[in-house]
Amino acid sequence: MNILDCIVVGAGPAGLSATLTLGRSRKTVGLFDDGTNRNRVTQESHGFITRDGTKPHELREIGLNELKKYPSISYFNTKVTEITKEKGNKNYFVKTVDKKEFIAEKVVLATGLQEVFPIDSVREYYGRSIFSCPYCDGWEMRNKPLIVIAEEEEYMLHMAKLVYNWSENLVLITNGAEISVEGALKLEKRNIKIKTEPVKKLIGVDGYLHAVEFASGEIIERAGGFVVPTFYRPTPFVKQLGCEMNENGVVVTDGMGRTTQKDIYIAGETEKLAPSSVTISAAEGNKAAIAVNADLVSERF
Ligand SMILES: Cc1cc2nc3c(=O)[nH]c(=O)nc-3n(C[C@H](O)[C@H](O)[C@H](O)COP(=O)(O)OP(=O)(O)OC[C@H]3O[C@@H](n4cnc5c(N)ncnc54)[C@H](O)[C@@H]3O)c2cc1C
Repeated sequence: MNILDCIVVGAGPAGLSATLTLGRSRKTVGLFDDGTNRNRVTQESHGFITRDGTKPHELREIGLNELKKYPSISYFNTKVTEITKEKGNKNYFVKTVDKKEFIAEKVVLATGLQEVFPIDSVREYYGRSIFSCPYCDGWEMRNKPLIVIAEEEEYMLHMAKLVYNWSENLVLITNGAEISVEGALKLEKRNIKIKTEPVKKLIGVDGYLHAVEFASGEIIERAGGFVVPTFYRPTPFVKQLGCEMNENGVVVTDGMGRTTQKDIYIAGETEKLAPSSVTISAAEGNKAAIAVNADLVSERF
């Protein structure tokens, strides 16, 4: 079995960008992706310069096509299930769900995040009329009658204030959670309505929200909005490989994607355990690749 210079897990903006830089640095790279990128539900990806409004799958195809120019890059459309290193061995063993095995000197984790919503049925509207990032989709939702769904006061206030920048016609839905008098006053001063009642159901067609029904039977008409989800890493690799994390679950790095575990690098949203953007993830992929190449070059010189 050939030993690859690097394996990159995840072909989102972070992994694609890392792979491109490594290919251009004449490194042998295996890039793996199982097609579970969280932005696959959205119609358009915004704010990435020169590609504003491109569909996420088109953005990915453009990225994968660009990689074809570099013969040392191989792409595998499959799920990585194991990353291990035997004691005394300096290389990492990577297994996939279809039982393929690979060996590499370095590994870049770029596996992104997934989200859990305070109300399950938000999933049906996510990416069409309910979003989590106002910088990504606020412009498209401007001036519409919107909701903000958040269950923790800190996030209620943060998201409501932010979304107010794009639409002043706003209802905060806490789905049964309390909000302090002080917090409520801040929002009511701006005519933001607050509904603390639990939501019975979201009403709409084809992912486009029309109304929200509350436990009492009250229905309010709304055209969409923003939700504050909880984020988690979809893979166990960070923990399994022993990469140090801080008290907030953020992976400790040197700022260039090097983790505390030798030869394991990290890039994109999975590092911070917080949502970011296509631009930020691509930049971090580029940085991690520079670190991988710099380390390989200096180890081999
Ligand atoms: C609804 C929605 C709308 C958005 N709109 C925008 C927008 O308009 N503009 C913007 O800049 N950002 C937007 N974002 C955010 C943007 O999608 C992310 O910030 C960005 O994609 C993160 O890049 P990443 O490379 O870190 O992770 P991802 O893009 O999530 O890529 C991670 C990849 O890892 C793969 N993977 C995970 N585990 C494995 C495994 N075990 N084996 C193989 N592959 C694996 C996944 O398939 C996935 O493709 C949006 C997000 C959502 C959910």
